[in-house]
Amino acid sequence: MSSKTPPKTPIYEGKAKKLFEGPEPGTLIQHFKDDATAFNAKKKGTIQGKGIINNKISEFLMSRLNDMGIPTHFIRSINMREQLVRAVDIVPVEVIVRNYAAGSFAERFGAFEGESLGSPLMEFCLKDDRLGDPFISEDHIFAFGIAQPEEMDEIRHYALRINDILSGLFYGHGIRLIDLKLEFGRFYEGEHEIIVLADEISPDTCRLWDLNTNDKMDKDRFRRDLGKTEEAYREVARRLGVLPNMSVVETPSFGGAAKKPAKGKATKVATKPKAKPKKK
Ligand code: C5P
Repeated sequence: MSSKTPPKTPIYEGKAKKLFEGPEPGTLIQHFKDDATAFNAKKKGTIQGKGIINNKISEFLMSRLNDMGIPTHFIRSINMREQLVRAVDIVPVEVIVRNYAAGSFAERFGAFEGESLGSPLMEFCLKDDRLGDPFISEDHIFAFGIAQPEEMDEIRHYALRINDILSGLFYGHGIRLIDLKLEFGRFYEGEHEIIVLADEISPDTCRLWDLNTNDKMDKDRFRRDLGKTEEAYREVARRLGVLPNMSVVETPSFGGAAKKPAKGKATKVATKPKAKPKKK
């Protein structure tokens, strides 16, 4: 008998991930690529090793959330780049939770990047690349039949809990969770529908700043050509302890002494005037 693994059946290829048919019915293999895109794929590139790092970070964070009672699509790790997940019916809404002003929010409202929002602020975008993922309200979501009010209640509830759990988890590793994007899916147990967290949670989908220096440790380094993107992703993985055997390139800005210790209240982290971010 051949010991060769049979070829996997591709289901879908996205900008950062591929999906293949899973070994059991109702499962999928989620494969993380090194490809990076920004501004609705107008900017394209590769972040070396990103697929491995995001796979491991997402696996770790989803497992911690599962431990805390948040249902997720994650089943188990398969290899360095792949994980087995439940096949879910994705709710085509990107749920964004913001703790500090940054990115498109800072641009839209003329806020300082890093300004505290007081309490978490939730926004929704329609998942539609063709339309450039426009912001939508819950009224739009209901009017377009994208989700039911009770599903959105559950999604809101989980999104706030996830933000709360992850803010604390990252804080414990010297990282401030500025904002994050979540996706949810419907999973059916017989007739019973369960809303589960899907997609990924990684430096591609969160803004993560070093607690002491405010250095960006996420995809903004790629979006804004800040350099040291690989190092930043690796440093997040190193701090979370998810790549124990990988050689880590320490850089003065991430591994070394704090450049600019934050002064004053922990919630007020704005250090520079608003930069002019590029259009999405
Ligand atoms: O660009 P914006 O400020 O709206 O992004 C908010 C958060 O959502 C950021 O953490 C960003 O990385 C994430 N995001 C994402 N995928 C998108 C749009 C935003 O992961 N398509």
